[in-house]
Amino acid sequence: MHEDIAKVLIAEEVIEKRLDVIARKVHADFADEDSLQVVALLKGAFVFMADLLRRVPLRLEVECLNVASYHGGTESSGQVDFLDRKLPDVNGRCVLLIDDILDTGRTLAAVTAKLREMGAREVKTCVLLTKDKKRAQEVEADYSGFEIGDEFVVGYGLDFDGKYRNLPYVGVLDPSIISS
Ligand code: 5GP
Ligand code: MG
Repeated sequence: MHEDIAKVLIAEEVIEKRLDVIARKVHADFADEDSLQVVALLKGAFVFMADLLRRVPLRLEVECLNVASYHGGTESSGQVDFLDRKLPDVNGRCVLLIDDILDTGRTLAAVTAKLREMGAREVKTCVLLTKDKKRAQEVEADYSGFEIGDEFVVGYGLDFDGKYRNLPYVGVLDPSIISS
């Protein structure tokens, strides 16, 4: 275990088994579509999307969006910024939106609204983690890997100050790291 991690919350093998289940659901739910547009949110979703999508044998197209809602700390800023100059063309498409974690709900709500405004025919949302808490925006994911408590987690794509995204598990940081 990495020395900065106080506790492993979800081990790699547990994540892998759960991905098999979600992938089967996504496959079954979209089997009748001739093509599915995946939109993944960077950077947090990059590990989850790579591991999940390789388990989904559908004709997929993958686009990534850069959005920012966190600005270095451990609290959501309340504002969602679209950082790309050009957004993918989702007009008339069936979209699977992938993010790492559903926290306040602002990100999924804002991006879902944007994709609909851009003409997406259907938007389904998929997150690795859902925090069990009261959300600023009432939104729940159509597919969710795990429900966790309202605590700050890192690993498997999720960062603190740009670090820990490469950890193969989801864990909780040692409090001394966050306060230093
Ligand atoms: P929301 O808009 O739902 O508040 O937050 C979504 C974004 O906030 C996620 O994409 C993620 O980047 C960030 N976030 C929320 N909770 C956590 C957390 O516990 N750890 C990390 N590293 N990022 C989080
Ligand atoms: Mg994020």
